[in-house]
Amino acid sequence: MGMEKNWHFDTLAIHAGTPPDPVTGSIQTPIHQSAAFVFHDAAHAANLFALEEAGYVYSRLTNPTVAALQGRLAALEKGAGATCAASGHAAQMLSLFNLMQSGDAFVSSNKLYGGSVSTYTHSYKQFGWECHFVNPDEPENFRKAITPNCKAIFLEGLANPSGSVVDIQAVADIAHEAGIPLIVDNTLATPYLCQPFDWGADIVVHSTTKFITGNATTIGGAVIDKGTFDWSASDRFPLMSKPEPAYNNISFHKKFGALGYTMRAHALGLRNIGATMSPMTAFLTLAGVETLGLRMEKHVANAQAAAEFLKEHKAVANVSYAGLKDSPYQPLVKKYLPKGPGAVFSIELKGGYAAGKAFVENTKLFRHLANIGDSRSLCIHPASTTHHQLTEAQLKNAGIMPGTVRLSIGIEHIDDIKADLDQALSVKL
Ligand code: PLP
Repeated sequence: MGMEKNWHFDTLAIHAGTPPDPVTGSIQTPIHQSAAFVFHDAAHAANLFALEEAGYVYSRLTNPTVAALQGRLAALEKGAGATCAASGHAAQMLSLFNLMQSGDAFVSSNKLYGGSVSTYTHSYKQFGWECHFVNPDEPENFRKAITPNCKAIFLEGLANPSGSVVDIQAVADIAHEAGIPLIVDNTLATPYLCQPFDWGADIVVHSTTKFITGNATTIGGAVIDKGTFDWSASDRFPLMSKPEPAYNNISFHKKFGALGYTMRAHALGLRNIGATMSPMTAFLTLAGVETLGLRMEKHVANAQAAAEFLKEHKAVANVSYAGLKDSPYQPLVKKYLPKGPGAVFSIELKGGYAAGKAFVENTKLFRHLANIGDSRSLCIHPASTTHHQLTEAQLKNAGIMPGTVRLSIGIEHIDDIKADLDQALSVKL
């Protein structure tokens, strides 16, 4: 990386991982839309397969356009290496695939995207992976839930949909005392607003579908490893520290050191699960992430103004935005999100379920759809959609009431955002 190490975030967001193409001089990273790559000779092929030499073999494992994005995301999170994936959910699975075997467990915050709660509760059981959910507002809850077969703690630092904030450093300390890593889903904050590695996190996952790409063109995900967790300090992580029978008996931590986790995520995770990001997705994400800093500044300013406006609105019972002065998360915002707590939050309407449904049907600027982190303002009624499959207790944990509406505030003009909120809230039921 050379001088890139000293560059600021906004510079890295444009340049990291993507020097001009050495063959053509193309300033934009080419879309290497190729399934496979020609070997120089038999020795080159053998070396690539044995992981003795870096290079490209087959795009399920590695691809130059995807690698460029991996370099950029690793730089933005200040990690040692990154693995891109087909979606945010695929990234979550890859992050655990390096650590978990059948019969293992992990502890997770219960304030998560509804799809993650459902995946961790039901689908991971098919692999024999157990998830113990805890309320993250009290970090000690994580310590109490750790069992000898636990391999990680997982949390969303800034949680979807309420925008609540977790004390990342306190939870990282608890994880490390137990000898396990902390995995932070940094999707809502993005590396521009929060740098989890500065606070002790070991692995970061993203749904790049959201703010990182920022224009709703693609589904994607990424796992970034800080590269400092000692996988060999105990016998708890045999997949990282012991010879791997599924790949030439390589011990990934021993052979690759700080890059061991990322190498295994490619060589075993992507190779065997196949949840690979496409070159076209990587290209669109590279283009989107260039403006991440600019966009997040505007997202946060608009979210703050919209939240203050909604708090005073007669149809609104509650606004969850952590940027509001009376939010219980203010101290954590000041510490972990000094530039602002993102642009996703929920409001609770006085009119309950009927008012929630009426609101999403009456907005004109806010698009009613199942996504967040677009440049457009978005809304959804979780009780009838994203969180429909959760039990009442899970809904309560996630802060979802019948009249809750989740908002993702875009980067349009704030006056238009406020006007649309006002007219949609003023429609007679
Ligand atoms: N993590 C968070 C915080 C999310 O909000 C989402 C999706 O909404 C995901 C992960 C899953 O990402 P994807 O939809 O890209 O699989």
